[in-house]
Amino acid sequence: MRYEKALVWLRNDLRWDDNLTIKKATELAKSIVPVYCLDPRQFGPGDFGLQKTGIHRARFLLETLRDLQEQIAAKGGKLLLLRGHPEKEIPALARDLGAGVICFSQKVTEEEIKVEEVLEKEAWQHGIATESYWQSTLFHIDDLPFPVTQLPEMFTRFRKECEKLVQIRPMETISDPVRFTPLPENHSIELPDLQELGCSHAGQEPAGDMIFKGGSGAAWERIHHYFWQTEALASYKQTRNGLLGADYSSKFSLWLGLGALSARQIYWEIRRFESEKTKNQSTYWLIFELIWRDFFRFIAKKHGNRIFQIQGIQDKPGYWKEDREVFLKWTAGETGIPFIDANMRELNQTGFMSNRGRQLVASFLVNDLEIDWRWGAAYFEQQLIDYDPCSNWGNWMYIAGVGNDPRQDRYFNILLQAKKYDPQGEYIARWIPELAKLKGFDRHVPFQLTSETLKKNRLRLGNGYPVPLVSLENWSI
Ligand SMILES: Cc1cc2nc3c(=O)[nH]c(=O)nc-3n(C[C@H](O)[C@H](O)[C@H](O)COP(=O)(O)OP(=O)(O)OC[C@H]3O[C@@H](n4cnc5c(N)ncnc54)[C@H](O)[C@@H]3O)c2cc1C
Repeated sequence: MRYEKALVWLRNDLRWDDNLTIKKATELAKSIVPVYCLDPRQFGPGDFGLQKTGIHRARFLLETLRDLQEQIAAKGGKLLLLRGHPEKEIPALARDLGAGVICFSQKVTEEEIKVEEVLEKEAWQHGIATESYWQSTLFHIDDLPFPVTQLPEMFTRFRKECEKLVQIRPMETISDPVRFTPLPENHSIELPDLQELGCSHAGQEPAGDMIFKGGSGAAWERIHHYFWQTEALASYKQTRNGLLGADYSSKFSLWLGLGALSARQIYWEIRRFESEKTKNQSTYWLIFELIWRDFFRFIAKKHGNRIFQIQGIQDKPGYWKEDREVFLKWTAGETGIPFIDANMRELNQTGFMSNRGRQLVASFLVNDLEIDWRWGAAYFEQQLIDYDPCSNWGNWMYIAGVGNDPRQDRYFNILLQAKKYDPQGEYIARWIPELAKLKGFDRHVPFQLTSETLKKNRLRLGNGYPVPLVSLENWSI
């Protein structure tokens, strides 16, 4: 032990199990102080007139923190909560408590790295050491078969080389008992409520097919349900493009985002499922998707701030419109294209959207409405519970044709997609009640119905459900 006390600054690693940073802190010091800092910048205005964190993720974060408080209490400790800029508050707390070292998990995106750098400087000026650890990916950064600067730009090459050459590390276990530094009462704040965090519509209750609850406890309940109770994992590859219900995909992104669950925990649980139940294309495919997550993370590390810029990592000039009125119709789910609107309404009401939906609404915004793709990415940042800067901006760049896609311009014919993924219009009926009265596929094409059919169903386009914002000539079916 090199130190008496270590301060563990928790960030998007809000779990006790498989947490390398906590483990290292317990090895470095005789006692630890786990702390989370609520940064007002995360709850204030973001870019393009949007909020950084909307109601759904704020609610999920508070649940996750409550769950972590309980996990730490079960070990005999306390999760300290601070409010302010972590680069100031964390070193100040370390000084007050006489902690010799601050431990934290590394992030990859610019704003977060800046915070780390200022924090380290501040700490060092006061003779406090800092130790940071990599733990957000499945493949550990030190095990990659290439330096990050030489990372392949093509996903398939990245995946194949990693699959061939990288071993997934075992999970980290923290040895009991852990000693926690005794704390004076006045050091911690209470968990705030949503209004205090400045989240609007705080009374709004989520309305999806699954209740999304933050924290490792709920994450493991989900794993239990998806793997062991329903064995939905065994058919994931066939169902993953679904739209309705809870089990077409894993929903693990919700907990991965804040780190209530690690990618490695999922990986080892899949392996257990494979040895105890079934090993098939579906069990592999969930790992395949987790590798996509890794890929975007390493791409963000390689390209830095360029993932947030309009010309993307391809440095490609774009000609995007800045039509606020049209953009707001897209955000509100009022474009007049039911498949787009249903997805946006689901996002607004629940904080989640399927992968299929995300691809379609993103393609529609950039290709059909020709709006600046960063506006869409920023709206997702505000709305998504599972918002992750690397996966979000990486996927948006990809769809906008300024990212890693070797096939340029990913364009989707929305009506063909509707035929394929929602032929009976059930998804539309779920999220756009005013179209539920129509039958089957008619729900996707109210604009093609005769005035008689519309009248029979008491539907007037433009007065109730909107008329389409775009001409439909690109979309023959
Ligand atoms: C425009 C756009 C924006 C996106 N923004 C985010 C985001 O902010 N946060 C986020 O976690 N995912 C994002 N994704 C990726 C993907 O849509 C979600 O991870 C997935 O829908 C989450 O649901 P799930 O956990 O049920 O996924 P599953 O299909 O069960 O996949 C399992 C896990 O694999 C990973 N994964 C799957 N697909 C992708 C992908 N395309 N890129 C990166 N990782 C993937 C996720 O961690 C996911 O939890 C975005 C995709 C698009 C097209």
